[in-house]
Amino acid sequence: MKDFGASSDLPVVAIVGRPNVGKSTLVNRFIGRRATIVEEMPGVTRDRKSLDAEWNGRRFIVLDTGGWIDTDEPLAHQVSLQAERAIREADVLVMVVDVMVGVLEQDSAIARILQRAGKPVLLVVNKVDDEKRELEIWTASSLGLGVPFPVSAIHGRGSGDVLDAVVAELPPEPEVPDTGGPDDHLFAIAIVGRPNVGKSTLFNRIVGDERSVVHDMPGTTRDTIDTVVETPEGPLRFIDTAGMRRRSRVDENAEYYSVVRALQAVDKADAALLVIDAQQGVSHQDQRLGERIDAAGTAIVIVMNKWDLIATEDRPQVLADVYDRLGFLSYAPVLKISALTGRSLKDVLPALRQAEEAYHARVPTAALNKVMRELQQKHPPPLDRKHRTRILYATQGASEPPTFTIFATRPLPPSYLRYIERSLREEFDLGPTPIKIRVRQRAS
Ligand code: GDP
Ligand code: GDP
Repeated sequence: MKDFGASSDLPVVAIVGRPNVGKSTLVNRFIGRRATIVEEMPGVTRDRKSLDAEWNGRRFIVLDTGGWIDTDEPLAHQVSLQAERAIREADVLVMVVDVMVGVLEQDSAIARILQRAGKPVLLVVNKVDDEKRELEIWTASSLGLGVPFPVSAIHGRGSGDVLDAVVAELPPEPEVPDTGGPDDHLFAIAIVGRPNVGKSTLFNRIVGDERSVVHDMPGTTRDTIDTVVETPEGPLRFIDTAGMRRRSRVDENAEYYSVVRALQAVDKADAALLVIDAQQGVSHQDQRLGERIDAAGTAIVIVMNKWDLIATEDRPQVLADVYDRLGFLSYAPVLKISALTGRSLKDVLPALRQAEEAYHARVPTAALNKVMRELQQKHPPPLDRKHRTRILYATQGASEPPTFTIFATRPLPPSYLRYIERSLREEFDLGPTPIKIRVRQRAS
């Protein structure tokens, strides 16, 4: 879990500029919409205001340097001091000018100091409240701080673009593998599916199992609760479970299982249990959800629930239907269970364990290239404009999910990539995880 208390080692973004250009308004914009105020930190000095902000998942401190100018000294001098101090304290500098007033000598003075900063500087032309004003931003180009960003801090116009640019200029995130304790790295599972398919019943069956010890913890997504289930084979983390816990069913609202929420959970998850009502069959929405899980690179176990309601003679047809409609998830196991009666529930945790193993699988390079050679011998890649494509070698560049890079003399058609995927799955027992294959072209 993120620790919002310790902000000291976060990168600092300073907002610099003459009085009244709109620095404070811009700061509020930065920490307001979409970005989140986490805490207001008492600064080192009383005049200093620094606020915790977050954008695109990056956290940083915004320093409003406006308060640094409030003495009786000449303004020009104060403004230079402000800029120099900002350079010392910040990783990224945002200079603000006012389009209504235009570029003044004080602005130029600040710009000259910032140019020597040796740190990234972004130039914001503020109070561009409408398109007409946008034509005037170019006067600010003379400041020599690059292409200006037109912004209306008061209306929010353009502030997202500035934040994107700010985040892009932040120093790389320090690699802290273990910020929030071991539970952060538990294999995480999202239980998803349409309303009434039996997600809650299934979840409560899993946590209600007497073999398991359960505790709730702050979720991977803001304002959510996750549940960690201790199983004999180790702990598993279930994502966003508040709405599924028995005791909170009362205040469940219809929104709870909204698609958006399910997709958020899927994005945070290592594996998804896609629960389908066997009686209803695979719906369009189930297909969409399956596609998203696949695209997110999340391992997947398909659960046909309410199997108790399917007459024996209908079962083959129901299954055929699943394989047909979810054919693109052919790597995923299909469990036939009844969360209500407990039928085949014992298969769920092992299936998740298998998904976990597959998701983390690493194929040694030598073995991988042996298989690549063999599969080429069996079926050589098709001709590409009369040229024979050759696969030179392959590596597994990443896991979670397993991701392979193939170096080939020419592009490989989708049919051949599917053949490669099938072969890799068979040879390396990759199981219920999506795998990714990238092809890089190389001269032989
Ligand atoms: P600072 O002294 O640089 O921090 O400037 P403030 O944020 O206090 O803003 C100075 C004045 O400009 C205030 O009256 C703001 O309401 C106004 N202001 C700030 N941003 C905008 C904007 O985008 N458009 C317009 N029209 N006014 C703005
Ligand atoms: P959710 O909205 O996906 O969480 O679904 P619930 O867990 O609330 O279940 C919806 C309804 O389906 C409830 O009335 C459950 O009792 C019922 N149900 C859940 N699992 C099964 C099952 O395996 N068989 C049968 N017959 N009913 C089930």
